[in-house]
Amino acid sequence: MPIGLAMVNEKDPFYFRNHLFNQYFPFDPEQPLNMQTWWETICPEPDFRQQISRFWNEEIHRARAGDGIIPRQELRIISTAGTERIMLIGGITFGDQFLATFEDRTEHTQKQEQLLSMAFFDTLTGVANRRHFDQSLEAEWRRAQRQHLSLTLMMIDIDFFKQYNDTYGHPAGDACLRTVAQCIKAQLKRSHDLLARYGGEEFVCLLPDCDAASARIKAQEIFQAIADLAVPHKGSLVSEQLTISVGLASLTPDILDSDQLMRIADHNLYQAKRNGRNRTNNGQDLLC
Ligand code: GH3
Ligand code: MG
Ligand code: MG
Repeated sequence: MPIGLAMVNEKDPFYFRNHLFNQYFPFDPEQPLNMQTWWETICPEPDFRQQISRFWNEEIHRARAGDGIIPRQELRIISTAGTERIMLIGGITFGDQFLATFEDRTEHTQKQEQLLSMAFFDTLTGVANRRHFDQSLEAEWRRAQRQHLSLTLMMIDIDFFKQYNDTYGHPAGDACLRTVAQCIKAQLKRSHDLLARYGGEEFVCLLPDCDAASARIKAQEIFQAIADLAVPHKGSLVSEQLTISVGLASLTPDILDSDQLMRIADHNLYQAKRNGRNRTNNGQDLLC
C-alpha cells in the first residue's frame, strides 16, 4: 500500500511507523520521535508551524468527539531529502490514540499545476492565452461597468509575418514571436494590465482604467519599443525592420457587451493595415 502510516498516542508518540513513513521523513527509525521534533522538522518556519499544528490538534479533537475520522488535507512539508513535498495527511482516532496516513501528492500536484498553466498560458511565448484573455475581458468589462471606468483593448498584429517565416524560417519566426511578446509585456507596467497571444502573430492588450488618450500614449510606447528591437525584416514591404499594426478601442462600458470592444479594435486594426501598416487606426504613422 503506497501510504505512509504512523500510530500515535499521548504517552509514546509515534510508537509505530511503517516502511514508507521512514522513507518519506528524515527521522531515524531506531530513535524515539516526539511531536515537537516532528513539527519542527517538517515545518521549520515557526509562524506557519504554530498555525498548522494548532489546526491539526483541533482536527484530532474534532475527530475524537465525532466519528473518529481526521479529514485528509494537503500540507507542504520538508521531507527526507530536505526538499519540499506535498503530503496528503489524514487519519482515524481510536480512544486517545490515532493512526495517521501520509500520501505523497507532489508529482500529482505538479502535473495539475502544469495542466492548469497549459490551459491558461501560451506555450510558445509564455504570455496569457486566448482563454485566459476571454475570461479577463469579461471580468474587467464588468468591473469597468460597476466602477464607471474606461477600458482599453489593443489588438496588435505583426506586419508581413508570413514573409518573415518565408525569409528566415519557422524556428526564427517562433523566436521572433517570443521576443515581440516579451517586448510588449515589458511596456505594461500596471498589475492589472494583461497581454495575451490571441492567435498566430496577433496579440491583445487589455488595459483597465485606461482612456483613449492614455491608450494612444501606450501604443506609442509599444511602437517605440518594437522599433528599438530593430529586428531585421527583409521581406517586409513597409520597413527594413519588423513592425506592427495596432487597432485601439477604448470604452466606458454601459449597456453594450464586451464584444463591442473586440469589434471596434478589430475594425481599427483592419483600417491600420489598409492604411499602410506600421501604424494605429488614426491614420498617422506613429514612427517615421
Ligand atoms: P499582415 O501584414 O497583413 O498581417 O500579413 P501577415 O503575413 O502578417 O499575415 P498572415 O495572416 O498572412 O500570416 C500570418 C503568418 O503568421 C502566417 C503563419 O505561418 C504565421 N504564424 C502563425 N502562427 C505562428 C507560429 O506559432 N510560429 C511561426 N513561426 N509563425 C506563425
Ligand atoms: Mg500579420
Ligand atoms: Mg494576423
